[in-house]
Amino acid sequence: MKKPLIGITSGDRYLYQTDNYSGVRVSYSMAQVSEAISQAGGLPVIIPVHDPVQSAAYIDHLDGLVLQGGADISPQFYDQEPTEKIQRFDPRRDKREIALLRAAIDRQLPILGLCRGMQLANIVRGGSLFQDLSDRPETTIAHVQLSDGDVPSHRIYVKEDSRLSELLPNQTMINSYHHQAIDQVGEGLVVSGWAEDGVIEAIESVDPDFNFLGVQYHPEQAIDYNPVHFLIFRDFLDRVHTNQL
Ligand code: MN
Repeated sequence: MKKPLIGITSGDRYLYQTDNYSGVRVSYSMAQVSEAISQAGGLPVIIPVHDPVQSAAYIDHLDGLVLQGGADISPQFYDQEPTEKIQRFDPRRDKREIALLRAAIDRQLPILGLCRGMQLANIVRGGSLFQDLSDRPETTIAHVQLSDGDVPSHRIYVKEDSRLSELLPNQTMINSYHHQAIDQVGEGLVVSGWAEDGVIEAIESVDPDFNFLGVQYHPEQAIDYNPVHFLIFRDFLDRVHTNQL
């Protein structure tokens, strides 16, 4: 049987601080995402920087789509002006990923959203973000950890009977690398994980035409300290296989 082909979105940066190739523009994705997809039985491919018009053509070849992490999303995509604490954003990347995501939704492909990827799916479904967690007065815990991604930072409280609850035990320790968070939840989505201060840490679709689960943390970096986080990827490949039947 052919291995399912899993597209992973790429960021678009210039290389600095390298001995060679300094100043070269690259499409990049985090190696641990590809490794986790491979380990779960998928064949990962990085979707390079491309013209959004080509998005549907990419999606035609794929069996699943991973929206990987990265920089802030331009607030223009959720109808807000940038506030003072917004960080670097790149509307060109946003447009490429939104086009891919819309094409994937049209084709009913299984989709996994990681960190920024979860936020992007929320926005495409009409939701919004807090541009900075300080805009949300109830925030009491640190969500931008200084430790490496393989170090657990805070707990996630998991909604009973959600898809996520079949993967993560309640109060699992997760890493946390986000200064933004979901504010309004998009259409057809429910919150399936929170931090102790109520910050949204996971969402999933309850719309049968939208095959989506998203997490605010980085499970690909957390597998080493707790293998339970690999289940996010195994579940995604399960959804891909089910979708192919
Ligand atoms: Mn967090």
